[in-house]
Amino acid sequence: MLEHDVVIVGGGLAGCRAALEIKRVNSNLDVAIIAKTHPIRSHSVAAQGGIAASLKNVDPQDSWQAHAFDTVKGSDYLADQDAVAYLTQEAPEVIIELEHMGVLFSRLEDGRIAQRAFGGHSYRRTCYAADKTGHAILHELVNNLRRYGVKVYQEWYVLDLIVANQGKTPDIHGVVMYHIHDGQIAVVRAKAVMFATGGYGRVFNTTSNDFASTGDGLAMVARAGLPLEDMEFVQFHPTGLYPVGVLVSEAVRGEGAYLRNSEGERFMARYAPQQMELAPRDITSRAIVMEIRAGRGINPDGTSGGPYVHLDLTHLGREKIMSRLPFCWEEAHRLLGIDAAVQPIPVRPTVHYCMGGIPVNTDGRVRANASQLTEGFFAAGECACVSVHGANRLGSNSLLECVVYGRRVGRAIAHYVAHRTMPPVAEKEHIQKATDLIQNLLAQRGDMRIHQLRQKVQDCMTEYCGVFRTALLIEKGIQEIQNLKAQYERIYLDDKGNYWNQELIEALELRNIIIVGEVILHSAYHRRESRGAHYREDFPLRDDQNFLKHTLAYYSPTGVTIEYMPVVITMFEPQERKY
Ligand SMILES: Cc1cc2nc3c(=O)[nH]c(=O)nc-3n(C[C@H](O)[C@H](O)[C@H](O)COP(=O)(O)OP(=O)(O)OC[C@H]3O[C@@H](n4cnc5c(N)ncnc54)[C@H](O)[C@@H]3O)c2cc1C
Repeated sequence: MLEHDVVIVGGGLAGCRAALEIKRVNSNLDVAIIAKTHPIRSHSVAAQGGIAASLKNVDPQDSWQAHAFDTVKGSDYLADQDAVAYLTQEAPEVIIELEHMGVLFSRLEDGRIAQRAFGGHSYRRTCYAADKTGHAILHELVNNLRRYGVKVYQEWYVLDLIVANQGKTPDIHGVVMYHIHDGQIAVVRAKAVMFATGGYGRVFNTTSNDFASTGDGLAMVARAGLPLEDMEFVQFHPTGLYPVGVLVSEAVRGEGAYLRNSEGERFMARYAPQQMELAPRDITSRAIVMEIRAGRGINPDGTSGGPYVHLDLTHLGREKIMSRLPFCWEEAHRLLGIDAAVQPIPVRPTVHYCMGGIPVNTDGRVRANASQLTEGFFAAGECACVSVHGANRLGSNSLLECVVYGRRVGRAIAHYVAHRTMPPVAEKEHIQKATDLIQNLLAQRGDMRIHQLRQKVQDCMTEYCGVFRTALLIEKGIQEIQNLKAQYERIYLDDKGNYWNQELIEALELRNIIIVGEVILHSAYHRRESRGAHYREDFPLRDDQNFLKHTLAYYSPTGVTIEYMPVVITMFEPQERKY
């Protein structure tokens, strides 16, 4: 059996930053990262626009308190304010640390780190490396992993958590994993397991996320009978490139681009007269869908009534576009043949980020319920809900969360494992269970291809749990996803082999996508109010009296049960949110 003091599942920003911190605190600890991709192919590498911190290099009046206020207001007051205080207070320090690790940020004339405007932030505080910020940061972190001697299991797919004491205090003893190269199954035990498994964009049919963002970590936690928090809050990014859905970074609007409807009008004036194109994402996404619904969307032949609006950069000039937003220009050119310096880009909202996730305290300890923690289990990054984003995340706060909480959780783990012995694990039993799961899937004689069922699940989620929701729609979605879940037994695999069986991985991911979808639908159904990204047309107002609280959803094969947990309010009392 394999064993390490700590195993981290996920090689993106959160996982890598945590691994480095554990080694910095105690270089004798044996730390491993497991990732189903190569770490530098984690979705973090695709982050474009930047990472927020009140460095005050451009706007000297900025402060961590202003950053905290913008974050809490952006969250529609659902964020836990103790967690937001850590996020924003530690932000300047973690950026300087990244720089010392070798990250090349874009610069001001005087050599200091440049900062740009971003939606919902009241000062220019987003640090960036052109529009390839995630690439710049992740590459340096992965390089540093080698230097610090972190063991990396790349292209291993983690199947499940090993949980002991189910029913009492859940105690995590390790994970079971499958080697994509050759089909080997292995058990890893550890004094602490950390999840940094990223988001779930692939639960929906149009997303900016990579193919690996299938919510595996969330589904494993749900299957273990542990709760998932605030899963109804799905972020739709306003500017997904139409029709593919890949991201056109918010940095484009940060640099001054306009949104226009079929009449050429800057329609944001109707929805957020002060912040215009730089209103938060939930508001901007709803505005775009409302314009499209009102018949002011655009068709490919230029007529009105179509499915998208225009993102217009043409007034920025080619030089600025090429120096600040080269990747965005290249994307529109490569995928649609558009020269963004002279032509507008067609965009519509695309699923981008999951505000909810695995509930954790500010040290990343995973919660067993509203009042109790698990043992041996930590999480950080997009898969975790600490909650700094509440009902709506501000752009450039997510990379920041990965780095601040990656570091915090790394420290907490280093101290936690000092007092913990290696747990016992019945290796054979777990290997047998995983072997059976895989053999059964390979032997399944269905009549349905994986992608057919996946498409139906993704269409169901997009149709019944999109930007606008009602009880009636969500009820239909719940019924539909139950039907689809029953059809999982009908999928079949052509590839019965053990080497690079991508079909098998897709089948395993599909199982997770369905579970995550079901949890999102139930959480959305029970929140009978509109807050941040969760907009209920049948309950259009925020209802602090009944719903200023976090959802905790417990999955079981027979259904989902919902409980709630209080919001931590320490600095800012809830107010009406206006932009
Ligand atoms: C296109 C795009 C642009 C973005 N731009 C910005 C931005 O400019 N600023 C910002 O703040 N945020 C941005 N975001 C959001 C931000 O990039 C992500 O929230 C963040 O990078 C997530 O990092 P992570 O470490 O939590 O997870 P990821 O980087 O998603 O990594 C997840 C890791 O988990 C592994 N994994 C998952 N499941 C398994 C399994 N079953 N077995 C083994 N390994 C597994 C994967 O292989 C991967 O290594 C952007 C997101 C997208 C999609």
